[in-house]
Amino acid sequence: MLKEEKAKLKQRLTPEEYNVCVNKGTEMPFSGEYWDSHEQGIYHCVICGNPLFSSETKFDSGTGWPSFWEPIAKESVKEESDNSLFMKRTEVECAKCGSHLGHVFSDGPKPTGLRYCMNSVSLNRTEG
Ligand code: FE
Repeated sequence: MLKEEKAKLKQRLTPEEYNVCVNKGTEMPFSGEYWDSHEQGIYHCVICGNPLFSSETKFDSGTGWPSFWEPIAKESVKEESDNSLFMKRTEVECAKCGSHLGHVFSDGPKPTGLRYCMNSVSLNRTEG
């Protein structure tokens, strides 16, 4: 659950950010800013700035969404079971503010075998 009030976020966020971060939507694949990005940097929560992922763990998943095999710290994200859309999935949220980030799947590369499939609009990358 998001710590900031939805009404405040509606004013602050773009409609696309609101749909994904607050309403747990999914951006169109191959549409976001980061799916094909190879720049170095740290990916932060677009709402609260919590550091979530490093470019060091980003990989080309072929899905059209930015994908990582590990969060920057175990405590930086929160995982919740998601049984919507007739699928058993694990939702990933920002541990600090509760913003929806995406889902994690167990078909990722070594060393973790995990694939954190994120929405670009939930993230904001900064250098270093
Ligand atoms: Fe956050």
